[in-house]
Amino acid sequence: MSFFKKLASIFKEHEKINEEFYDELEETLVMGDVGIELSQEILGELKSAVKKKWIVDAAEAREVLKENMINRLEADRDGSEYDYENKQSVILAVGVNGVGKTTTVGKLAWLYKNRGKDVLLAAADTFRAAAIDQLSVWAERTGADIIKGTEGGDPGAVIFDAVKAARARNREILICDTAGRLHNKKNLINELKKLYTILDREYPEAVKETFIVVDGTTGQNALNQAREFKEAANATGLVVTKLDGSAKGGIALAIQSELKIPIKFIGVGEKAEDLRKFDPAEFVNGIFRSQEQ
Ligand code: GDP
Repeated sequence: MSFFKKLASIFKEHEKINEEFYDELEETLVMGDVGIELSQEILGELKSAVKKKWIVDAAEAREVLKENMINRLEADRDGSEYDYENKQSVILAVGVNGVGKTTTVGKLAWLYKNRGKDVLLAAADTFRAAAIDQLSVWAERTGADIIKGTEGGDPGAVIFDAVKAARARNREILICDTAGRLHNKKNLINELKKLYTILDREYPEAVKETFIVVDGTTGQNALNQAREFKEAANATGLVVTKLDGSAKGGIALAIQSELKIPIKFIGVGEKAEDLRKFDPAEFVNGIFRSQEQ
């Protein structure tokens, strides 16, 4: 049973709150990738709210739990998450291979092209010819321009050329795919530093965003990756992909709670339109709505 269905079913099975209810709830949160510590923390807060408000019905506890989750996901949001959209901006997408980074860059191009923005793509993942080809397909599909490097070339040179082109062609949003195959953290930090130096020097007027992309189906691994990238990059947002299918979803809570970076987008499929702006209330309500299915 999926995390969503299981979580919802607990509230169906238990009308009143008891120890068994709490045990099942904790187990489900842990299984759903929320993580042991955070699950215990959430349970602890739920229990004290239940005591304080004299709650006995599980349905009422559900509302408290929902609010708790929404507040956690809202904690590091101040309403400025998407301000870059209306300014001249550059987005760097970072993340390890296979998480859906290139696809996310393509989906972002689709999103902004559809909103009438002038978009330029930069294929700066020069480690893989396939990534350059893949992004070229997205460029064609979305009608966005693309600046490409050659396989084995210098990613910094691609970014440099892309900034020049963005300026010359007056592009509003420059979205850059970067390499995910970096052997160690030092290497990663150095590579990203180079890119930031180029952007700061060549494109000082642009708002800079760095999105860490993680695969929502990989649980603890996604959290570890996000942690590493946060240390290496000036991250401004998270993108959690593959939250369709087998994803448990709790990872969104775990990553956001620990990294304190807002989730800006979630990927819910492979198609261009399968990218959603992350809305904490909608996300949490969606989890609990599964009980009606
Ligand atoms: P990259 O190596 O990080 O650039 O990853 P890719 O963009 O090549 O994506 C790896 C695979 O994940 C591809 O088969 C994508 O179609 C798939 N993928 C990416 N995002 C999503 C998503 O939100 N949902 C699903 N189901 N698949 C996705």
